[in-house]
Amino acid sequence: MGRAKKPKVYKPPTLDESVDKKLRAACQKWPPFYNTKKLAKVFVTVTHLEGELFQVTPDNGGEPFIVADEKLKSGARVMYRCNYCSLLWFDKYWFIAQSGKNKGKWRKSSMVAIDHIEPAVPVTGWESWDSYIDRLFNNETQILCRGCHLLKSTIENTERVHARRERKQAELENKESKEEHS
Ligand SMILES: [Zn+2]
Repeated sequence: MGRAKKPKVYKPPTLDESVDKKLRAACQKWPPFYNTKKLAKVFVTVTHLEGELFQVTPDNGGEPFIVADEKLKSGARVMYRCNYCSLLWFDKYWFIAQSGKNKGKWRKSSMVAIDHIEPAVPVTGWESWDSYIDRLFNNETQILCRGCHLLKSTIENTERVHARRERKQAELENKESKEEHS
């Protein structure tokens, strides 16, 4: 007999989570935000070579290259240039889910992300809703591919951890010196 599955408990989002979700959705419709994506757009022509191999030729005269993709179709397509690695990426890509209820099925996921060059939550930590909203809507954005976005987020999160540790350490030292003086 298999191990009994833990029943899933529905955890309602907190007020903060709900507000944040709405703000991020509003940001997607904010002209400066989606204009970033428009500017990174590159029109290409895809031709089938053999099997899952396709040749991609940028319409602006850029160097043609080959991609392997089972689900790609020949013809006019749109790609986006990553601001970090400078490579062209399709917006969506297909993959076979490795886990979850869709395991073994083809799923579609996004390959490009609109990234805040300076993150909406500074690496030094949360300030306030006012500052968060200001940074979310007014900070400059760029297009990054999935890999580069993941790398940037990982670096930022590491910086957050360090900043938090330093803040805690400073608080502790502050408390200790206050106790010494009392
Ligand atoms: Zn990239």
